[in-house]
Amino acid sequence: DMSETNSSADSRPELRCFVPYFQPVFNYDTGEMVGAEVLTRHLKTDGSIEGPASFIESFEKSGFIYEMDRHIWNLACMHLSRWRKDGYPIRSLSVNVSRRDLYHEDIAVYLRNLLDRYGLDRESLHLEITETAFSENNGQLVNVLEGLKSDGFKVEMDDFGSGYSSLCSLKDIPVEVLKMDSGFLSATDKSHRCGSIITSIIQMAHAIDMQVIAEGVETKRQADFLKSVGCLKMQGYYFSRPVPAEEFEHLIEKEKEQSK
Ligand code: C2E
Ligand code: CA
Ligand code: CA
Repeated sequence: DMSETNSSADSRPELRCFVPYFQPVFNYDTGEMVGAEVLTRHLKTDGSIEGPASFIESFEKSGFIYEMDRHIWNLACMHLSRWRKDGYPIRSLSVNVSRRDLYHEDIAVYLRNLLDRYGLDRESLHLEITETAFSENNGQLVNVLEGLKSDGFKVEMDDFGSGYSSLCSLKDIPVEVLKMDSGFLSATDKSHRCGSIITSIIQMAHAIDMQVIAEGVETKRQADFLKSVGCLKMQGYYFSRPVPAEEFEHLIEKEKEQSK
């Protein structure tokens, strides 16, 4: 159908309007920055900045997501290789990988070539895949992940706790890191059930040698609680909002001074 082809070509978003923002992840015990998550922002022609809530879903439907994600992974690697050359002690960046991306058979080859092109080792780019992607219990998905893992990529399970997969399903899934939303750790939880759930997730994850990164940490109280139950890696507004590359450089500038 020609008309449909034309209209979708006309509405095809411009890649250069999508830029990476960076949100640091800290070790709350040492104060050290241990990495950062790459989060996409849409710079609109009217000057406003749009978050992914307004475009990810439609891009996943249209299939454009793979193109956008590869564009962002590229920019992330470009920034990281430049920061490394400039002597910033940044260990890794975590990028988001849509479930849709994993259906592209060339994804592993694409990522390998990308890192080679920028002279980065495989440990440099962590792949965040949302928990719900695994709930399909899809053999093909597990194969792709096994491939990425044997290539040396570190896979992080995003939004752990938000979906329906049980801790038991972790035994079949090749991930090493759980990203756990701790935003629901609110002061209004009088029953302390949230705290107990989080404590159990952390204990179980550690028992099966998985690391945990707590996301959505907004207050000192939450950070202190997480530390008290053994979760040291944290990300959230309490530490920093996602910021553009130039602003992120100021943050890592401080790290560079401290690491001297
Ligand atoms: P996510 O991967 O779970 O990312 C964390 C979200 O929490 C981000 O929202 C971040 O800005 C927000 N956040 C960080 N700290 C706090 C906090 O302390 N409190 C609260 N309330 N929120 C916090 P954002 O940037 O709007 O992204 C939303 C989702 O869009 C992401 O959730 C991720 O699933 C998706 N996404 C973002 N960038 C990309 C991308 O490049 N590719 C793909 N496929 N998905 C992306
Ligand atoms: Ca994520
Ligand atoms: Ca998340």
